[in-house]
Order: sequence, then C-alpha cells, then structure tokens
Amino acid sequence: KYMDKLTKAEDTYTFDDFLIKPGLSCIEPNDVKLDTQVSTNYHLNTPVVSSAMDTVTEANMAISLARQGGLGVIHRNLTIEQEIKEIKKVKYANELTVKEVISISPDETVSEAQQIMDIEEISGLPVVNDDNIVVGIISRRDIKPLRGKYLNRKVSDAMTQEVVTISENTTTEEALDVAYENKVERLPVVSDVNELLGIVTMKDILERKKYPDAARDKNGRYLVAAACGPFDIERAMAIDDAGADIIAIDSAHGHKTDIFKSVNEMKKNVDADILLGNIATAKAAKDMLDATEIDGIKVGIGPGSICTTRIVAGVGVPQLSAVSSVADVAEDHGIPVIADGGLRYSGDIAKALAVGANAVMLGSLLAGTTESPGEMTIRNGRKYKQYRGMGSLGAMTGGVGAGKDRYFQGSSSNMNSSKLVPEGIEGVVPYKGEASQIVYQLMGGLKSSMGYVGAKSIKEMHEKAELVHITPNGMSESHPHDITITNESPNYHPRY
Ligand code: 5GP
Repeated sequence: KYMDKLTKAEDTYTFDDFLIKPGLSCIEPNDVKLDTQVSTNYHLNTPVVSSAMDTVTEANMAISLARQGGLGVIHRNLTIEQEIKEIKKVKYANELTVKEVISISPDETVSEAQQIMDIEEISGLPVVNDDNIVVGIISRRDIKPLRGKYLNRKVSDAMTQEVVTISENTTTEEALDVAYENKVERLPVVSDVNELLGIVTMKDILERKKYPDAARDKNGRYLVAAACGPFDIERAMAIDDAGADIIAIDSAHGHKTDIFKSVNEMKKNVDADILLGNIATAKAAKDMLDATEIDGIKVGIGPGSICTTRIVAGVGVPQLSAVSSVADVAEDHGIPVIADGGLRYSGDIAKALAVGANAVMLGSLLAGTTESPGEMTIRNGRKYKQYRGMGSLGAMTGGVGAGKDRYFQGSSSNMNSSKLVPEGIEGVVPYKGEASQIVYQLMGGLKSSMGYVGAKSIKEMHEKAELVHITPNGMSESHPHDITITNESPNYHPRY
C-alpha cells in the first residue's frame, strides 16, 4: 500500500510547467476588459488583490490598488485599533461628501475664519447659524481683498451670501457641472431646509474623475478588505464595524472543521463578505463550500516567494494544480477563487486566470513599492525594501505576532522565540517605485495574453484559454537567453 502512495500519486503542476496556447483572435489588448468578481457582493475592474502582509498592505497600498480597480487586504499584525485606523484611512481617502464639516458662525470675526482656514489648510468655510442652517460661505477669496484690514469685522459682513449648494442626491457629474458653472471650489451639501449636511470639494470630484476604474462601495468610497484570524470574532466584528467591505480569514490551512464552524459564527455577526483560505485541493473546496456560506476562496499552500511551508512541513500543492482543482469546484457553486502566492510575472497571472482564478493575490510583486510599509535600505548602491513572510520569525515576534496563530504556533504573546517553528523567511526586494506602475505593467501583460487567446473578458479567458505542457527546456527557451541583459525592463527581471 505504501508503494501505491508513490505510484498512484497525482501529477501536479505549476506556472513554469505550462504555457498558454495562442488561439484565433480578433481581440486587441485594448479591447480587453478585466473586470471580475472577487467575492459574492463585490467586483473589481482589475483582478489584483494585495497580500495581507505587514510588508505589503496598509492603507497606502490599499488606496493605490483601489484607485486602479484592485483591492488591498490590510494585514493583521496590528492591534484591532491599528487595523481599524488603516481601514478608516482607506474609507475616508476619497469620500466625496465630507460629513464632519468645519463651519463658522456669522458672528465670529474674519480673523478667526482666516485662522481656522490656515490651521486646517482649507480654502473656505460654510457659515452656519445656531440651527446649522447655511447662511453664507467665506473663502480666502472673500478675505484677500480686505488686505489685512477689517479683520475684526464679523464674518457676516465679509461672507458671500449667495451660496451655491447641492443636495444629498447630486451625482458626481452634476456636482462637477455645478462647480464649473459657478467657478466655486467647495459645494456645501444641504437638506431641503438648507441645513448643512456635508461638503464636496472640487479636489475630491476631480480625484473621482481621475480614477474611473476605481473599486468603490455603494457610497463611492474605496473598497477595502482586512485580514482576520479564523477564531478572532472580536476582530471580525470590529473591522466590519470600521467599514471593511471584505474580511479575509487568514489561515495557513483553511481546510479545518473548527475553522468552518467559527467562520459560520462570524458570518452571522458581520455585514462584510468573507474570503476564506488557504486551501489547495478540490476536496478542501468541496468540504468548505458544503460547510460554510463564504463569499470567496483563497488558494495557495506554499507557493509564496517568502514561504518555507513546503520545505519545513513537506506539504503543499504546486499552484496551477491547486488553483485549477479548487476552481472546478468553486465555479459550480458560483464562488470566486483568488490565486494567492507564487506569481512572479504577468504571464503567471494570465496562467492563473486561464485555469479558473477570478483574481490573483500578490505579495512579492507589490513589496518594495513606495506604498508598501517599511523602510528603504541601500545595499551596494541600490535601494531595497524589506519583505518578509507572515510566518517568519520577525513577523511572529514583531507587531502583535499575528503570524503565530496563522502558522499554528499558538497566540500567546510571551512565547519564547526559540520555541517558534517559522514557515517563512525575511529578506529584501529591490525598490520598484509606485505600485500603480507595477499594476499597469502586470495588467498590460495580462491584456496582451488575452489578446493572444482571443478572450475579451476574464470569463472568456476561463472558457477559451488552452494550455500546453512544456518541459524544462521549453521554459529555458522562454526566458531571454544567450545575451547579457544591459537595460532593465519594467516588466521583466531575471530570477534573483
Ligand atoms: P508571493 O506573492 O510573495 O509569492 O506570496 C505571497 C503569499 O504568500 C501571501 O499572500 C500569503 O498567502 C503567503 N505567505 C505570506 N507569508 C507567508 C509565510 O510566512 N509562510 C507561508 N507559508 N506563506 C506565506
């Protein structure tokens, strides 16, 4: 029977074992649409999700990805309060209507108004009476002609009385038209009786226009996901309250009955969609979907660039096999699949989508960018940023040690670090500039792949893409060869 374990073992494959076959096409890369479902209730215009890692995703990365149509998952090596703060930073980053408006009374002095504008670095203040009714607006434009004189005058004497306002139902387009027509920078949002409800600024409107593909919730705020341990119901409820649209339950082994139970309990207590992971087999997907009501599945045991699970535990499934086997089951249930880890090039993203993934989760490709947390270091004249596994010693002993429960190391904070058994390593990756440039190149590569396949949507990529099985020789022919590379390419680097 032991021999059978070897002789009857499945053959499994990863990115370098296959290429996508070119097919008949009338699709130009620019015709391609990349929108995808990332969970039951949320779709993205860009199928990229950033890893919940403390050297990859905090608010800056999540904002940058949301602007480009992707999704950031805030890591959980943070206290609940810190994680909430990062979620809120994303949610408030481009809220069209600022609700906590700084206003001033008509009886205050002009100099007081000026001081508030200076301190708050804003260019105008709605003027409201004691009942919060808008009676005017005072801006630097009203104050400037006074040339420092009359600063003791009342605001009511200097303000503009004809205030251009909008209602709560005004759309972005309408707000922009109103602002342009009236040449105003700030539009107070008022109720039927002119009560001040909020303010919309031109800057925020323009930001909306600048990122038409951005991932937004139903109120127009950026989408954000946040990580949570499988048994941490307190955190799940707190990050849900803070506005996380999606909660990513983060475990090295999501195929566990006690996790299914706990996640069902969580699901009852939160509004957010729930992504559960990680798994790597069809059986895990089936058991998970039979036992829970989750909204998306994360696939990947051990493919990560910083991961040592397959070496330390000898466990894992090469990623293309893992993704395809889970996707076969999940698609029948209408549940999206996220291929998590191991992606090094845009071609790998295309291959993951070709075998059924709806989106990819990227760690190393987004680490080392301006938006990733962590300090820049210089080595041999080149800039680098730290990148480490969440199951590395550093991540398990730093922050709140979130990696410990993820990699079965208990959650006690006073555990001696020599007793931890890491499943990840710590290192540096070259500094790569803005994440938006990286995503641009990756999506460019993906669109080009879809052009070769003749797929104008991810759904068509699932249906049409065929793969060819290659040998190591086929792979070495695929990389540049017989040349010394002299110029860096923005979308290709030799393997470090
Ligand atoms: P990368 O994109 O760098 O290849 O992989 C990132 C993914 O690796 C993460 O999204 C996460 O699923 C996984 N990961 C992060 N830290 C660790 C770790 O310490 N050990 C293991 N086994 N996987 C990790």
